[in-house]
Amino acid sequence: SVEASIPEPQREAWKKYAAHGFKTKEDFEKEVVRHVETTLARSMFNCDEGAAYSAASLAFRDRLITEWNRTQQRQTFSDGKRVYYLSLEFLMGRALDNAMLNVGMKDVARGGLADLGFRIEDIIDQEHDAALGNGGLGRLAACFLDSLASLNYPAWGYGLRYRYGIFKQEIVDGYQVEVPDYWLDFNPWEFPRHDVTVDIQFYGNVRKYQDSQGKQQVSWEGGEIVKAVAFDVPIPGFDTPATNNLRLWSSKAASGEFDFQKFNSGDYESSVADQQRAETISAVLYPNDNLDRGKELRLKQQYFWVAASLYDIVRRFKKSKRAWSEFPDQVAIQLNDTHPTLAVVELQRILLDLEGLEWDEAWSIVSQTFGYTNHTVLPEALEKWSVPLFQNLLPRHLQIIYEINLYFLQTVERKFPKERDLLARVSIIEESQPKMVRMAYLAIVGSHKVNGVAELHSDLIKTTIFKDFVKIFGPDKFTNVTNGITPRRWLHQANPRLSELIASKTGGIGFLKDLNLLNELEKYVDDKEFKKEWAEIKYANKVRLAKHIKTTTDVTVNPSALFDIQVKRIHEYKRQQMNIFGVIHRYLTIKNMTPEERKKLAPRVSIFGGKAAPGYWMAKTIIHLINNVGAVVNKDPDVGDLLKVIFLEDYNVSKAEIIIPASDISEHISTAGTEASGTSNMKFVLNGGLIIGTCDGANIEITREIGEDNIFLFGNLAEDVEDLRHSHTYGSHTIDSDLAKVFEEIKKGTFGDAGAFSALVGAIEDHGDYYLVSDDFNTYLHTQALVDEAYKNQDEWISKCITSVARMGFFSSDRCINEYAESIWNVEPLAPENGDTSGLQK
Ligand code: PLP
Repeated sequence: SVEASIPEPQREAWKKYAAHGFKTKEDFEKEVVRHVETTLARSMFNCDEGAAYSAASLAFRDRLITEWNRTQQRQTFSDGKRVYYLSLEFLMGRALDNAMLNVGMKDVARGGLADLGFRIEDIIDQEHDAALGNGGLGRLAACFLDSLASLNYPAWGYGLRYRYGIFKQEIVDGYQVEVPDYWLDFNPWEFPRHDVTVDIQFYGNVRKYQDSQGKQQVSWEGGEIVKAVAFDVPIPGFDTPATNNLRLWSSKAASGEFDFQKFNSGDYESSVADQQRAETISAVLYPNDNLDRGKELRLKQQYFWVAASLYDIVRRFKKSKRAWSEFPDQVAIQLNDTHPTLAVVELQRILLDLEGLEWDEAWSIVSQTFGYTNHTVLPEALEKWSVPLFQNLLPRHLQIIYEINLYFLQTVERKFPKERDLLARVSIIEESQPKMVRMAYLAIVGSHKVNGVAELHSDLIKTTIFKDFVKIFGPDKFTNVTNGITPRRWLHQANPRLSELIASKTGGIGFLKDLNLLNELEKYVDDKEFKKEWAEIKYANKVRLAKHIKTTTDVTVNPSALFDIQVKRIHEYKRQQMNIFGVIHRYLTIKNMTPEERKKLAPRVSIFGGKAAPGYWMAKTIIHLINNVGAVVNKDPDVGDLLKVIFLEDYNVSKAEIIIPASDISEHISTAGTEASGTSNMKFVLNGGLIIGTCDGANIEITREIGEDNIFLFGNLAEDVEDLRHSHTYGSHTIDSDLAKVFEEIKKGTFGDAGAFSALVGAIEDHGDYYLVSDDFNTYLHTQALVDEAYKNQDEWISKCITSVARMGFFSSDRCINEYAESIWNVEPLAPENGDTSGLQK
């Protein structure tokens, strides 16, 4: 604030001593030693790799925070529009390697650490992943932060600082076991801001009264107050000094202390109860991917986070002393799925109850400010909150929702006076027992744009779940922004040798900022030398993964075999069950082959990884079956190297960085129309792997970009799914004959107790096969056979890989963020000042 500023005459001293990040190797070493000896209170006699990691991270954090300060000052002085990305999940992964690469100081750090007695790889490996997310949605938010900073957009992320991120997965006797992920022991990447706090209210009552001027006022009173404390994580842009902020809120008891009176009277346990209850709000990430469970604590998390973030955003806006009508020119807020939809209601409440605006004026500001990204059409994932729960926890917000709904339904009725059914269908309140608040509808009504995340998905939301809203608001409110990934982490960091090879042919590392420059690679599709290097890099990446497999599972795999990988959350719609049934079919086929026939077969390693939601029993059964099949196949002497089945424990971002560059083929085989986009499909292709997939999500656009000769597509189309499901239920449902043989084998007990897998088989045989496994199985096997054949011609295979990579420019998250900026946020980048340099080594 102005009061805290240093008077003009004393500012010279500040400028003279202003903090600067290190610029040379020597300075870096000095910083590391200083942090070891002072911040960490250690010395050269007890500095292990963990301490060296912390000190190196602190040195980079210092550097980032000075740039962060400059960036924030520049943004404040420029007084332009800012973007706020609200996401309940940020799956960031590791920060050190990313920071080193983005500021262009990895070689400096490598040399400095070597001088101090450490190997940079060992130091990078010390870092615990920041795993504040479930899967694609959270990782997308992380890629977006990287692009927003790299493209110099003034943008903040807002999220929750969970004490426990996504659980750690262990496999015990073939079963998934969940272990808590306590990641905050010491996190050098965050800045606690104990001075930035917001009091958040829950429960209580609403009182209406007339003020002294006779104006109707509303006050939300009583209830419980919890404190939100800000923790800031600096987000470095690539090849720019711009450093943005991710602000994560942590919950704390409002008094900050336990109850002394209870303590003094001997009631020790309940004296800390309030404190614990408050801290519970930000304690855990809900481990469900694409599933809504409607728990009160989750709604508490959502309001806590949204209210703290809006308070912060409004506080920043009010400093500018502008009129409220200018709010949408200064602020764009993006809702990453419906989780932050309460922000719509909270902003309306602030403007109405606290700032005294009239309803229409307030609502016009609100509905111009928000954009909503839909991530799924799966019914079980669409958030709904029970009205009684809402009434109790957020009584004023429920009133406002009812009013928003009333005005909305009135406009619908005026526009479509004869359509009574329409009103019930689009009402934000579902007339069920109990009544429910439909969060997606609230998000649509409260936003000026709604987007899907791949073309097919954006078309589907317009023709299915949000069809009525297209009729009401017109088609222009609905748009598509196909997801993207950051090539910094997913190529340069994960696959440094491939990045280097590409740089050598495309005129330097400019392709990391303009991914379309990959096009240049098409010239080398027939270049023998280039292809040889390409193949060597892929082989080296496979050797690296084979070592990881050996250390974690004790299975030896042959790096020359075809690596077939499916890593992602385990979900019936993603159809890992189809993959493992295919593996069983392959196993049975091998068992029936003559030695001569076996010689002709391409050896394969089938690699799986991914977490199941702890309460998702069917997903856990799939993991169990994969592990049991592995246990049988991997030790069968008839099979040898021809087939290995691996389940990699605890799939997360840092493991993805090892796994993805090592794939020959990866599987993206969701039932058509169920996967909104997928992003790992893009990562695998960008790393020189081919994919086998269904016509779903971004697979379709990947095909359009890279060409249908370079992808193995199969399966029924989205438009046929409904009829097929209908025929399963009402017609005769015959199981594919190859699949039936697989089921027979499972039932014989070849892979352990058949009873353990009866629900998995029964879902297909007896319960309608909702995900169309049997319908797609035959073409799946057939397409896998084509993969086998194609892999035998390595020369052609590599040409396909190179061509594909050359055509992947579209899938950069930079393209995606530019589209959001232009078509949804209306925000411009803010170029760094002249003379700013980030020190990037070309
Ligand atoms: N989980 C992790 C750890 C990831 O890194 C990714 C994407 O890279 C995903 C999940 C999303 O994968 P998919 O797009 O295959 O669902």
